[in-house]
Amino acid sequence: MTANWKIHLREAITDPAELLQILELPHDALASMQEALKHFPLRVPRHFVARMQKGNPQDPLLLQVLPSGAENLEVADFVIDPLGEQAANLLPGLLHKYQGRALLITHGQCAVQCRYCFRRNFSYEAQQPGVQTWQKALDYIAGDPSIHEIILSGGDPLTLTDHSLHVLLECIQALPQLQTLRIHTRIPIVLPERIDAGFLNLFQDLPLHKVMVIHANHAQELDQSVHKALQDLKALGFHLLNQAVLLKGINDTLPAQLDLQKKLFAYGVLPYYLHLLDRAKGTAHFEVEHAYAHNLVQQMRQNLPGYLVPRLARETAGEGAKTILI
Ligand code: SF4
Repeated sequence: MTANWKIHLREAITDPAELLQILELPHDALASMQEALKHFPLRVPRHFVARMQKGNPQDPLLLQVLPSGAENLEVADFVIDPLGEQAANLLPGLLHKYQGRALLITHGQCAVQCRYCFRRNFSYEAQQPGVQTWQKALDYIAGDPSIHEIILSGGDPLTLTDHSLHVLLECIQALPQLQTLRIHTRIPIVLPERIDAGFLNLFQDLPLHKVMVIHANHAQELDQSVHKALQDLKALGFHLLNQAVLLKGINDTLPAQLDLQKKLFAYGVLPYYLHLLDRAKGTAHFEVEHAYAHNLVQQMRQNLPGYLVPRLARETAGEGAKTILI
């Protein structure tokens, strides 16, 4: 029997005209959207669309996924590989940028295509995700005992089937030096149906610390289905953290940030990073200035307990750690 989440994934919206029609919005910018789609596709699950406000072209969820003519502009310093990941890509499927941690590119697919994504131009084909590639990457990790944490990233690692995840977790458990499994995923937010009984069973007896870094940018993304998925993950022993990207016109106001942090906390998630935009080609229109971001986080500090204020961070190609700006 096909799992329910796979049907949701397969039936995600990929046509901007359909998305605009559902949201009762005009179609006048379709030509420039089609041009943007040549570089980065549209994909958004229908239940995520149901959280958008009809008739509102500035809806903060819609703006994250709707292609825009602004993506077609050439802007200086916005490049194909803003984080220099090609240099850290030692083997297909493996990034080793930071001391003690290694990142596995498990899969090229995401459940949603975020227009601001720093990997929107990343060549997933070159990573050849799959069991043989993972094994070579894990052999590399086995040869470096200083690596004690493995990070599953992508694409989104939770688009892997239960069977593939099972195989991967078996391989990971065979590395005695590993203490922590970390998963970077947007799926509990955009496709919470994925967190089903079969998925939860996979992690039941995993003898590692389990960290899940989810990715929500706006309180409107968080509904009851997300709450249920997060509760189930927490009950299984996952430490839940959120990383967000500060996005112009989407979540760059004090009320938007306060609502996000408070709702995440109510759902059992602590803030981790608030990222300044990585300067990927086609994303310049999302950028928020550093000084504005700094001031915004200072205001958040005056309105929230310290544990609900994310660290404002910037990642710079070639540096051994993120730069914490405040
Ligand atoms: S889910 Fe993450 S990796 Fe996938 S498109 Fe969105 S930001 Fe990029």
